[in-house]
Amino acid sequence: MPDRVPPSIETLVIGAGVHGLSTAWHLARAGRPVLVVDKSGVGAGASGIACGIVRNNYFQPAMQELMAASVEVWESEPEALHYHPSGYIALGPAAQEQDLAAVFERQQQIGYPSELHVGVDEVSSHMRTLYHDWRAPGLSVCLHEHAGGYGFNRESMLGLADLARAAGAQIATGVEVQGFAFDGAGAVTAVTTSAGEIAAEQVVVAVGPWIATLWSMLGLPDRLDVRQPDGTVVPDQPMWTYWYLQEGEAEFDPAVFVTDDGASSPVLHVDSDQPLLADDGRLITDDAWGVYFKPDRETVQGGAQPIPQGHTFAVDPYPTGTVDPGFPDLWSAALSHCLERFEGARSRYRQARSGGVGAFTVDNFPVFDQMRPNVFVAADSNHGYKMIAVGKEIARVLGGEHSSLLHPFRYERFATGDLHPVSHSPYPWS
Ligand SMILES: Cc1cc2nc3c(=O)[nH]c(=O)nc-3n(C[C@H](O)[C@H](O)[C@H](O)COP(=O)(O)OP(=O)(O)OC[C@H]3O[C@@H](n4cnc5c(N)ncnc54)[C@H](O)[C@@H]3O)c2cc1C
Repeated sequence: MPDRVPPSIETLVIGAGVHGLSTAWHLARAGRPVLVVDKSGVGAGASGIACGIVRNNYFQPAMQELMAASVEVWESEPEALHYHPSGYIALGPAAQEQDLAAVFERQQQIGYPSELHVGVDEVSSHMRTLYHDWRAPGLSVCLHEHAGGYGFNRESMLGLADLARAAGAQIATGVEVQGFAFDGAGAVTAVTTSAGEIAAEQVVVAVGPWIATLWSMLGLPDRLDVRQPDGTVVPDQPMWTYWYLQEGEAEFDPAVFVTDDGASSPVLHVDSDQPLLADDGRLITDDAWGVYFKPDRETVQGGAQPIPQGHTFAVDPYPTGTVDPGFPDLWSAALSHCLERFEGARSRYRQARSGGVGAFTVDNFPVFDQMRPNVFVAADSNHGYKMIAVGKEIARVLGGEHSSLLHPFRYERFATGDLHPVSHSPYPWS
């Protein structure tokens, strides 16, 4: 049964994920009337299935600044948001030394607390001061961020919704947006929903992996020419690409996944070029591999190599897929490869509701911009559970302020060539 909706509202937010809810929370805190509608429920999309990692490790200065601002928001309400400020550690082979050193240097400039270790012996020794049974060989760079950590995905979204409601926002679930009416200037005059029409002065679209549908309803182009920083133009590129993120869980008491001083472990992100063997000595892969893992409620949770899906994808029902048959072997072997305590992880692997698809933009970075005279779109290119400050910044922009944090993510960059620098990571999220 859909919730009832009012015939009009000052700001209508579409989508009750991290960006929609954070926008509503911050608008409501500023005393602005706001209604969030979601076709399913709070946290029904990517925000409710995300691994929940909050890190600063991005090669792009603009991403780093936005992540630092986001950590401040997470830290402002750790209990309500089910946030664990355990820190984050990225480890990699020689090929990643330069990128991680550049990230570290910028962290020093912006005052983000981190340390960098370079060289196989130094990295090993740092990791062994934290975990007596650390045993991953051949990693020659380690960026240890002392801020950030992780949140419990669904609980944190429910907590964010509570914060928004307590500030005065309304949230209506089971209400699907089906179309828009426009005036001659291209502004939205009314939003057609499954619960009736809503007139809104301002609309915020924050629909995660469903963005292609809403983008098209707004009459925005699904292909575009992209100017590169050197001035050349790559013509006729698809606006959206989908990647499936494989994730799983292994049953371990969270008390097992602690550092030697008894604290809950930082999130670990390991990229390696070393052969990966199963506990019985079977070769899993001798290609480069990468995994991330973190403590969860009663398990260790994490993921490995994503699967590209192309430019169209049926997003409903969400989450929409399972993992590659080889994923549990690879991910469990990687846990054991890193920490002896995870020997036997494969037999504790469990098929949980995890993993999901993300919609990436043409340059793999977010578009946060006013795409119609009164429609702000938050399309985070699947970077965004951690980016809880985006909603705060959107609320500022809707209040008439400029956001220097969101400015680098304007849509116009595809025409001007003002693109973000690209790291050596083989995946679109670093
Ligand atoms: C498996 C996985 C793991 C991830 N791990 C991390 C991580 O560790 N850290 C991190 O920072 N990011 C992570 N991400 C990315 C992150 O989850 C997303 O970038 C972010 O949650 C997107 O938030 P959102 O608010 O834009 O959308 P969503 O959370 O997807 O919310 C969109 C909402 O819009 C609603 N909706 C859609 N269409 C309509 C409509 N027509 N009418 C009304 N409502 C509609 C949906 O029901 C949904 O609830 C992960 C993503 C996946 C898939």
